[in-house]
Amino acid sequence: MAEENVDVPTYKCILVGDGGIGKSTFVQRHLTGEFKEEYVATLGVEVNPLVFNTSRGSILFNVWETAGQEGSGVLRNGQHQGAQCAIVMFDVTSRVTYKNVPNWHRDLVKVCETMPIVLCGNKVDIKDRKVKPNNMHFVRKKNLQYYDISAKMKDNIEKPFLWLARKLIGDPNLEFVATPAFPPEFPVDPVWQRLIENDLQEADKVALPDDDEDL
Ligand code: GDP
Ligand code: MG
Repeated sequence: MAEENVDVPTYKCILVGDGGIGKSTFVQRHLTGEFKEEYVATLGVEVNPLVFNTSRGSILFNVWETAGQEGSGVLRNGQHQGAQCAIVMFDVTSRVTYKNVPNWHRDLVKVCETMPIVLCGNKVDIKDRKVKPNNMHFVRKKNLQYYDISAKMKDNIEKPFLWLARKLIGDPNLEFVATPAFPPEFPVDPVWQRLIENDLQEADKVALPDDDEDL
């Protein structure tokens, strides 16, 4: 593990769902922002670290994507062992991928009854939607946290991680921030803060030269 991550709270997160629903795409969009049109099936298991900056410091999710081509929701080789949270995904344009959600969910609950699990319906950018929120009886019956997402359009893709982070850290008001927040142990010295602000104000007063020599 990288040295700078030593103090970062780290959680094992299982990402499951049938093959072809967009799990790898979802992780890639977080990692590099890249979107690939062609489908490359995940073989075995893929683990990717995703770091988020929050209002309470950084949080790291080690996301385990298990191969789900068979769509049976079978527990494989103890990959779920030690999981602390999970994302169950399906494709809103494919009813069968939603029908398998209870299987994926059941296997996760077997490993850890109390870990936070969030459900995502992906590909909401596609017009021909087959699974509508009103028909998600399993989700309503189990009172699961659910998000409509589009890995392609980057719609809502942070929402499942934000919900999990709030549960894991135990702060319902936690927010994701663009730049790392100072952990609360290192408060900014008020005198130092004022000095910096004065410097900035002074700098603002100085007129810029007409020709920009920096360019
Ligand atoms: P996985 O098997 O669950 O890991 O699925 P992949 O991430 O490999 O994606 C399967 C296919 O769905 C690929 O062709 C992706 O380009 C496509 N895909 C993934 N997410 C979306 C999405 O949000 N919208 C659309 N329209 N296509 C998507
Ligand atoms: Mg995959």
